[in-house]
Amino acid sequence: MEFINEKYINSLIDDESLKDSDLQFSIIEKARLKMGITLRESAALLNITDSKVLEKLFDAAKSIKENIYGNRLVMFAPLYLTNACVNNCLYCAFRKDNKDLVRRTLSVDEVESEARQLIMDGHKRLLLVCGEHPKKSNLDYVGKAIERIYSIDYNGNNIRRVNVNIAPLSTEDFKRLHSFEIGTYQIFQETYHYETYSKMHPSGPKKDYAFRLHAPERAFEAGIDDLGIGALFGLTDYRFELLAMLMHAEYLEKTIGVGPHTISIPRLEPATNAPAANTPPLAVDDLSFKKMIAILRLAVPYTGIILSTREKPELRRDLFNVGVSQISAGSKASPGGYKSESDNPTNEFGQFQLGDHRSLDEVVKDVCEQGYMPSFCTACYRSGRTGDRFMELAKTGKIGAICTPNAFATFKEYLLDFSSNGYSEKSETELMKQVEKLPEKEKKATIRMIEKLEKGERDVFF
Ligand code: SAM
Ligand code: SF4
Repeated sequence: MEFINEKYINSLIDDESLKDSDLQFSIIEKARLKMGITLRESAALLNITDSKVLEKLFDAAKSIKENIYGNRLVMFAPLYLTNACVNNCLYCAFRKDNKDLVRRTLSVDEVESEARQLIMDGHKRLLLVCGEHPKKSNLDYVGKAIERIYSIDYNGNNIRRVNVNIAPLSTEDFKRLHSFEIGTYQIFQETYHYETYSKMHPSGPKKDYAFRLHAPERAFEAGIDDLGIGALFGLTDYRFELLAMLMHAEYLEKTIGVGPHTISIPRLEPATNAPAANTPPLAVDDLSFKKMIAILRLAVPYTGIILSTREKPELRRDLFNVGVSQISAGSKASPGGYKSESDNPTNEFGQFQLGDHRSLDEVVKDVCEQGYMPSFCTACYRSGRTGDRFMELAKTGKIGAICTPNAFATFKEYLLDFSSNGYSEKSETELMKQVEKLPEKEKKATIRMIEKLEKGERDVFF
């Protein structure tokens, strides 16, 4: 944990020389080269107060995102296996001491039923989530759940990538997790601030800050090379959290040769019997949150930034503009939520309150209207473009030529198969207009894939 240098981070936060607008302007211009910026430069941008400089920052973040990822927004949904948990995180409704929560662990058949529902909504990518419990959510169970999810076929539609957000494992156990053919392994440090971490995690295995912090390296050693990190914003000063998270990203790049594939930016939401969630120690306001995301995009241009349905629709729309590249949609944060929430309106199983309750279909339409292209693509992981191979393609700008046609094809597939809930002529026309604008080679590849899909073929990608 020594690489999270608290003293250095605090010195950057207090450094008066980093408050200069001219300096901030020049850092923003440098960032447009898409080579990233230093920790010190990120700290300077955190000090921006002048609205003109702030607009420049937002504009740079938007153009970097568009330059690397185009107008694509990758869609996914979480699937909760269990809310049983042996930890006592003060911000989470699943905490052991919350006696009001109705505990529920899905059977493998129930997992299938949840995944089926998500497939029928149009999803192709899931994020598997669960509480930490040696009996209720052990690896055997997680493995069986993943195997079942991948086995479902609904008229040629299926879940093609299962990302996982579960408690940290030993290297040996990560090897088993890797054998289940997962996509990204995600783990949020929650707070990088040691003292706050200790306060927030009074009991249970999660008390161990260092075991959690070093989980990505163990996962990598076990063969998992797409790794996601994150912090839970609101537990301590967001400036500290952002700089520490960037330090973590830098450390991973140095030690394992590949930085995080994704960074998640959950903000604390109210949760039943979770004192730290209901009165966040240092809540982050919307503007600071936006500024922080923009800085993240400048600092780690090639890392996916994930925004969840914790945030409300209006804010989500605004944040897509400053560098978000992946979003959850149509989510439920409780085990069994997709099949049974209508029978369970009080959501007595849920982890926290969501801000965006719209269906996938509604989000897709909205995203299109904002000029973004929803993508359901899972091709990279299935074609072996993970870890450093992915980063190499991203950094040399070659990834766009692969991702754009694949994104168009998966969106076309969505429009064809979920026409009762997703089809709109406008989206179809918009899609074709965008295909026309592609460079010749990509255009041809995209049209070929679209033709195959129209003839009934599914899951076409390259
Ligand atoms: N139980 C495992 C763990 O803690 O590592 C798996 C992930 S947990 C179910 C998913 C994430 O939800 C946590 O890492 C935390 O960042 C987030 N979370 C917990 N309580 C939250 C709240 N009140 N508001 C927003 N996010 C919350
Ligand atoms: Fe359990 Fe994870 Fe919630 Fe903590 S955040 S109480 S470990 S489910």
